[in-house]
Amino acid sequence: MLELEEALARVLAAVPAPKSESACLSKAAGRVVVQQVCSPIDLPGFDNSAMDGYAVRAADVVSATPSTPVRLRLAGKVAAGEVFAGAVKPGGCVRLFTGSPLPAAADAVVMQEDTRIDSNAPGEVLILTPASPGANVRSRGEDVRHGAILVEAGEVLTIGRLGLLAAAGCARVQVGRQPVVGLVATGSELTEPGQSLAPGRIYDSNRTMLAVLTQHAGAVAKTYRLVADSLAGISRVLAKAVEHCDVVVTSGGVSVGETDYLQRALERIGGEVEFWKVAMKPGRPFVFGRCRGRLLFGLPGNPASARIAFLLLVRPALLRWQGASSLALPTHPGVLAEPLANQGERRHFMRVNVDAQGKIHSAGIQASHVLSSMAAANGLVDVPAHTTLAAGTVVPVLRWET
Ligand code: AMP
Ligand code: MG
Repeated sequence: MLELEEALARVLAAVPAPKSESACLSKAAGRVVVQQVCSPIDLPGFDNSAMDGYAVRAADVVSATPSTPVRLRLAGKVAAGEVFAGAVKPGGCVRLFTGSPLPAAADAVVMQEDTRIDSNAPGEVLILTPASPGANVRSRGEDVRHGAILVEAGEVLTIGRLGLLAAAGCARVQVGRQPVVGLVATGSELTEPGQSLAPGRIYDSNRTMLAVLTQHAGAVAKTYRLVADSLAGISRVLAKAVEHCDVVVTSGGVSVGETDYLQRALERIGGEVEFWKVAMKPGRPFVFGRCRGRLLFGLPGNPASARIAFLLLVRPALLRWQGASSLALPTHPGVLAEPLANQGERRHFMRVNVDAQGKIHSAGIQASHVLSSMAAANGLVDVPAHTTLAAGTVVPVLRWET
C-alpha cells in the first residue's frame, strides 16, 4: 500500500503543465497567475497629500506656534485629480485635499486642523505648527516601485493581489486554465436529495460536497447524474465524462466487493489504474487512473473518506493543473484540549474543531460514514498509527473550509 506522500507524488507527476489564458481582473479572483507581473508604474505615481490641508515649504513654518502663527499667502487650490500649474514660492501655500498632487517646491503638508483662516484676510492662511520636510506627504514609489514584482507565477489571485494589480493599471492577467472536473457518484442505493427515499436507500451527499471542493480548488465542476452499480452503467458515464472533462472524480465502488465496478469500468473504456489504496484513514481504497490523457480519481463512497481523500490527493492536483505553487492545505499549530487516540495501523486524519484560542477538540465520532463530525470540524489532525497524542500536545492542524 502506498504512503500518502508517495501517492501524492505520483499524482502530481501525472498532472500536465498548465495552459494559460488571459483573464480580466473582475473575473480572476481565485485564479492562479502563470506569469510574473511587474509594475509598469510607481505607486503612488506622484508625491501627494495624505491629508486635507496646505502644501508648504517646511522652512517657512519652522517657527509656527498657535500663539505665534506663520502667515502664508494662499496661491491656489488643487483638488484630487488636478495638478498645480506653478511652484510654491517662499511665503506661499496651496490648498490641498487627500490625494492632491504636491505642487512643485512644496515639501510638506500642514493638516487643516493645524491652521486657521483670518476672516479679515481670506487670501492668507495662519499656520499653527511647524512641519518637517515630508510631513503628511505620500511619496512617489513608496508603496511599489516601477518594475517591482506585483505577483509571482504560481500565486493565487487573492483580493489584495487583485487590488494591487488594478492599482498598477493591469486590466488583464495570464492565468492557468481551469480544469473541468466531472463528478460521478456511483451506488445503487443513492437517491437525489429532495426525492422520496425507498427502503434501504440513502441520499447522495458526496456530489454536493465534491462540487464545492472542486470550485474551492479553482476548478469547474460538472456534475453527472447518479449511477447504479453496474459495469455497463458506470462504463457509460465514465466514457462520457472522460470525453467532456479534463479530470474525472468518482465516489463509491472502489473497494473489494463484487458490486465495486470502478476499476473494471475504467479498464473497459481503455483507461488504466495507476495505483489503488493509500495507507491512510479515512480514504484507503483510493484509485488513481488515467484514460486518454485525462486523470481519474476514484474516491471511496463514505462521505468523510471522499472529502478527506479529495483534500489530500485531488485538490493538490487541481491546483497544480492551474499552475499553483502552494498545494498543501493551510496549516497552523494548535494545542490538544483532549487526547486524540489512533489505535489503528494507518495514520488517521481525525476531524477536529479548533477554537479561537487555538485549542483543539475532537469533532465527534471519527467513523468514515459520520457526517455530523464533518459538519462540526474545521480541520484535521494527522495522528500516526498506534499513537495517542496527549492533551497539551502542540500539533499542526490542517484547516479546511467550513
Ligand atoms: P462504497 O465505497 O461504494 O463501498 O460505499 C461505502 C459507503 O459509502 C456505503 O455505505 C455507501 O452507501 C456510502 N456512499 C457511497 N456513495 C455515497 C454518496 N454519494 N453519498 C453518501 N454516501 C455514499
Ligand atoms: Mg458502493
